[in-house]
Amino acid sequence: MITASLVVIAIVSGLLYQHQIQQYEAKVRDHGVALSRALSSAEYAQLVSGTDKGSLMRNLVNVQNNEDFAYGVIVNTTGEKLNETTSAGSIVPAAAMPTEPFAWFGEHNLISPGDGRQIREFFAPIMLDGQLAGFVRIGYYSQPTNILSGQISSLALMALPIFLLTTLSYFLIRREIKPLSQLSQKMEQASLSYGVQVAAPMHGQDMGDFIQRFDQFIQLVQSRVSNIDAQAASAQTVTHLLSYKNKKAESALNSIPDAVLVIDDACIPTFANQKIEPLLSVNRDDIIGQPPQDWCKNKVVLEFLMRFKSASTAKHNASIELVPFDNPDRRILVSAFPLFSPHDQNTLFGMLIVFRDISKEHLAKQAGAEFVSHVSHELKTPLNTLSAYSELLLDYSTLAETERVDAVNVIHGEVERMSALINNLLNISKMETGTLQLARKRVKMQDLLQDAFDSMNNNALGKGVEISLKIPPDIGSVRLDKEMFRIAIDNLLSNAIKYSNAGGKVTLSAQNLDNDEMQITVRDQGIGISPEDCEKIFNKYYRANNSETTLRSGHGLGLFITKQIIEMHHGMISVNSELGKGTEFTITFKAQPVQLEEALAA
Ligand code: ATP
Ligand code: MG
Repeated sequence: MITASLVVIAIVSGLLYQHQIQQYEAKVRDHGVALSRALSSAEYAQLVSGTDKGSLMRNLVNVQNNEDFAYGVIVNTTGEKLNETTSAGSIVPAAAMPTEPFAWFGEHNLISPGDGRQIREFFAPIMLDGQLAGFVRIGYYSQPTNILSGQISSLALMALPIFLLTTLSYFLIRREIKPLSQLSQKMEQASLSYGVQVAAPMHGQDMGDFIQRFDQFIQLVQSRVSNIDAQAASAQTVTHLLSYKNKKAESALNSIPDAVLVIDDACIPTFANQKIEPLLSVNRDDIIGQPPQDWCKNKVVLEFLMRFKSASTAKHNASIELVPFDNPDRRILVSAFPLFSPHDQNTLFGMLIVFRDISKEHLAKQAGAEFVSHVSHELKTPLNTLSAYSELLLDYSTLAETERVDAVNVIHGEVERMSALINNLLNISKMETGTLQLARKRVKMQDLLQDAFDSMNNNALGKGVEISLKIPPDIGSVRLDKEMFRIAIDNLLSNAIKYSNAGGKVTLSAQNLDNDEMQITVRDQGIGISPEDCEKIFNKYYRANNSETTLRSGHGLGLFITKQIIEMHHGMISVNSELGKGTEFTITFKAQPVQLEEALAA
């Protein structure tokens, strides 16, 4: 603190001294130039006359009253003194005066021969009768005598307030710095608690120390904040990812067709997908974490779930078939699978319960069973007939010729029926197992339809139905599987005859359409089909539910097979009918489907 005060005082004093020197030099110069010029312009006689105390020069020197005045002297051109005025103790030094007129006015520095002090001397020429008669030389001491003494007193005056001010400032700053210093210490401790070594302060417990620590602390805090920000951002990303994965898993579990329930080892649900809600009439949010007794209204399911409370049953797969109360035709297969830890097959997490709707399979099973009984019945009836007529024929001698022919015809008809049924079943089985391959060949449509017509004609005549064939001569040929296509045409023709009454007319016609398409139509004037039945007659085993149909034998397979065959040929079949008036079936297909099939195969 004292050093600082002294430095301040020294700087202020130096500046002050320099300023005073400059002022002094300017003053001496003014006095010197003014006095030498004034004397230079004075009369020669005045200059050289009079004593030191009473001369013109002395008078002028007195007027100036310059305490640093050293001497004034009039010299002739050889340097000899003609008159002089000196201050106390001053000795006029010798000096070479200029000879050239341009240098007659001037100044130079000299050394006082007595005390060795520096002298600033101003000179000017003295003229007599237009000739240079000598010079006036005025000397002043270069270093002021009174500046230093004046300086010391003013310095003393300045030093005191400076010293007091500096001391006061020091204590004020110390008082202000103290809490900052404490804060600085705390910041250092906090930094160390973060595991960061703060650099040693440079200036002890001063402001610089505080600023240094504060700066480091701020940097540390900034780096911690950015670390925390980065961690928060990464945690947020992980949370988003987990929630995304969770949603994906949940959406996958919701989109599977089965209802899924996961129960823990105390039989309490930990997960349920949406499908559970309509099935068990529950809200899945309400059942999570709740014992089954509180929410499961279905006793069969409740009993099934409670089975897994016992450790021995919990480790095994189990299943039951459930009949929902609201729909006895439905069947739900409830299966339970134990959930083991992936790392330890002895640690059981709970059970996965899957509710699968097996109504379709159940119906198919039922339909299959019904079908077997139906077909058995259908085969049993003709077999009984065959048996009866065979026995009749055994007694050959008692039968008239016509009776024998009738019996053989009956046997033949029944065999035909059975064979048709068996063929249909075989074809359906092939279609459904995918083993039926079309063998396309070039076929003359005229021949194909004529053969079909001929094979049905007898049958039609036998029922009193008139059958006619209408084919244009240019009908051309087509590429198709002749055998399969015949089955389709035969089914339509046999239906038309079967569902016609005696006296009815059946027409089989064909025509070429644009786009290389061909159309075959089978039209009858029979019992007709209701609009509702029109939508179902192509379904397997479907038969119209009316007395006219049930009077006629059949298995509901002909149109199903026909449709499959036409579609295998990339064609279409449609029906147009009116109850009691008649029916028209139309088949449309490509006559030369090579390109189409190649395109489909590509
Ligand atoms: P299947 O052909 O197996 O011997 P089906 O003739 O009863 O027996 P489909 O040929 O598939 O079976 O016909 C299905 C149903 O469509 C028939 O039972 C009948 O009700 C109705 N049907 C089919 N063709 C005609 C038609 N030409 N006129 C009136 N009804 C028809
Ligand atoms: Mg039929």
